[in-house]
Amino acid sequence: MVDFVELRIGLVLLVLCSVASAQVTVIKAGHLVDVDAGVLLADQTIVIRDGKIEAVGKGLAIPTGAEVIDLSAMTVLPGLIDCHTHLVDGIRETEPLKQLQKSAAQVVLESIPNARVTLESGFTSVRDVGVYRALNDVALRDAINNGYVVGPRMFVAGAYITITGGAGAMTGLAPDIALPLDLRYGEANSPWEVRQKVRLLYHHGVDHIKVVASGAVLTHDSNFNTLEFTPEELSAAVDEAKGFGLRVEAHAHSPEAINNAIRAGVASVEHATLIDDEGIALAKEHGTYLDMDIYNDECTQSDKTQPKDFLEHDAALGEAQRQNFRKAVKAGVKMSFGTDAGVCPYDAARKQFAFMVRYGMTPMQAIQSATRNAADLLGKSDMLGSVKAGKFADMVAVSGNPLEDVSLLEHVKFVMKDGKVYKRE
Ligand SMILES: [Zn+2]
Repeated sequence: MVDFVELRIGLVLLVLCSVASAQVTVIKAGHLVDVDAGVLLADQTIVIRDGKIEAVGKGLAIPTGAEVIDLSAMTVLPGLIDCHTHLVDGIRETEPLKQLQKSAAQVVLESIPNARVTLESGFTSVRDVGVYRALNDVALRDAINNGYVVGPRMFVAGAYITITGGAGAMTGLAPDIALPLDLRYGEANSPWEVRQKVRLLYHHGVDHIKVVASGAVLTHDSNFNTLEFTPEELSAAVDEAKGFGLRVEAHAHSPEAINNAIRAGVASVEHATLIDDEGIALAKEHGTYLDMDIYNDECTQSDKTQPKDFLEHDAALGEAQRQNFRKAVKAGVKMSFGTDAGVCPYDAARKQFAFMVRYGMTPMQAIQSATRNAADLLGKSDMLGSVKAGKFADMVAVSGNPLEDVSLLEHVKFVMKDGKVYKRE
């Protein structure tokens, strides 16, 4: 039996524990990029309590007992967000059919280093936009959230919703080979089948929906100019997802597929490679984000292990996409930062910032695309995207001024996610 004295000791310990668990950290930032106002602030104090930003300002009092992190020689930015990753697909294998030589568990366990590399290179959140083996991304997201695996905060699609034989399907097999469910989970061939897949994905815990609206580059027997869903099917995806509070992103290379997707009401068009003037005007009118992966051509073309048909598709598109990116930026279309990470090694995503500046953005615009714009695209502006009171304490720091030299983001010296430090050099 517990006597009275033991009970009192227990209560005192309980109180002490709860005091100790209120973890307070203070960052002294030499400079801070305010992505909302589009300015660089000097000498900022950032107070963090239990993983969230409590206050930001000049000369704030440091709470007693707080751990102080001195970044007075650095520039602090919000944690970066890549809106187009494939952390689990192992695309680096270059041949999707190799997935058939592995179990689902093997594929997802092999993705653990991808998550760590992504976080340590400065991306504290990712919008992961599809897996060949359905729901492996849900498993990785949850393992990260539970603290089993080190990685960015993941928002996942669960599968590609794609036509049979389409760019999100596992293609290249003999017609009499039947795939297991997880490798054909997202296949849909009518508006109602599309709705059914959205319902299933919601039930399985995804954060957003990925539809494949045109052919692809890195898929066998695929032509990037083909239309892979009708306008009715795309509208069905957006409408059904809306009912569950989910947003839709559409993979689209060809102008017609891009325009169909925008008209259907998707939140973002992925790649948007051959977007034409009509598409640019439509994106502006609908407030659609373009998520243009303009760096990864550097990796694809230098990778001699890529299948020959993939390289031919890719060569035709790389420069066209970069010039269209320039046009879209000039026209003032909303732009988010997406790299198709997995096509390049996971630590190469950060190299896209300099390319975005080379093709028409200011350094501030490039940084905003990966912070405030990305958070807006995710519908998470209340939690992510800037260093403001009430948001998650997700931050990175670099030596020097990234608004003068955006390539400094290729050498992030400090990474914090949820108030916890994951990298400090
Ligand atoms: Zn992709």
